[in-house]
Amino acid sequence: MTLSFDVQLSENGRTPAEREQVLSDPGFGKTFTDHMVTIDWTEERGWHDARLTPYAPLSLDPATSVFHYAQELFEGLKAYRQTGESIVTFRPYSNAARFNASARRMAMPELPEQVFVEALELLVQTDRDWVPTTEGHSLYLRPFMIATQVGLGVNHPSNAYRFVVIASPAASYFAGGVKPVSVWLSQDFTRAAVGGTGAAKCGGNYAAAFLAQRQAVEKGCDQVVWLDAVEHRWVEEMGGMNLFFVFRDRLFTPALTGTLLPGITRASLLTLAADLGIPAEEGRINIDEWRDGCASGEITEVFACGTAAVITPVGTVSGQDGSWTVGDGTPGPMTMRLRDELMGIQFGSRVDSHDWIHKIC
Ligand SMILES: *Cc1c(COP(=O)(O)O)cnc(C)c1O
Repeated sequence: MTLSFDVQLSENGRTPAEREQVLSDPGFGKTFTDHMVTIDWTEERGWHDARLTPYAPLSLDPATSVFHYAQELFEGLKAYRQTGESIVTFRPYSNAARFNASARRMAMPELPEQVFVEALELLVQTDRDWVPTTEGHSLYLRPFMIATQVGLGVNHPSNAYRFVVIASPAASYFAGGVKPVSVWLSQDFTRAAVGGTGAAKCGGNYAAAFLAQRQAVEKGCDQVVWLDAVEHRWVEEMGGMNLFFVFRDRLFTPALTGTLLPGITRASLLTLAADLGIPAEEGRINIDEWRDGCASGEITEVFACGTAAVITPVGTVSGQDGSWTVGDGTPGPMTMRLRDELMGIQFGSRVDSHDWIHKIC
């Protein structure tokens, strides 16, 4: 399928001085670029009206389906300014494929992968001056899709959808760089059960997670760690990132059981580990094994990974039965090595031997 994008440039975008002001301290997901991309879908017409327009609020009928039944999904990836000035993204076709996997689970229409990537390219090319030059900063891209049928009936999925891409300059996700986070093992709440939507990147998963995240903060922790929905003891993932353990110098990560998000960072680290000759395994680990492994010294590092925060070490773990420290509570050598490798590929200082880098301009 080919779609041509109608282009309407902003006439009152921010001035270069205003943009520099934002780029000097972007934070995460707070300020957006001057444009957005939109594509509509209806049963009769399929995908149509692809357009780039000035960034602006959406105007939607209060009875629009997404407001009531949360048929929504999203993606997250970044554009990086590499040494040599080219602007690239990382594995955008993997995000396109996951977007469509999420769409199937949510009974939403799939978008051809090529169109998904073209939408990103058009927005990044148009707003390329918003891609930060500061080391380690990037332009976060947020494609999403909402159900736009007007009406409150629930016998069918919506018959109309809108795909939108917005972009936001990003420093690091967690303020403070590679400072280890403290995590709370959530045994009162669950994120996803088998047959649910845990493997789909949909807003509903997050809607149901805020209460647990608030509880984590009340317990003095930065982030929640989700456990399985049946026994409440098998480790699944962190709030919005996958988890890795360093166990006797081997990497270990919870297997994709359908109840956690198949992270692209997670998949990339498993591949990089193989490149570096680090043994890596997927499987199950419960919270007793986590605590005992830290006590015996067999588990030396734990880190979380995802596009937004790349790799973030886990320093302390707390739960109903007390707290413990991972290693000495500081970022470990395997964590930092993998972080350097991955960011090196993304920012262009290391060889991209897997064709992960997709040049935009
Ligand atoms: C997006 C996300 C991740 C990380 O996925 P990446 O593709 O690595 O960015 C992990 N867990 C959840 C719940 C997510 O939404």
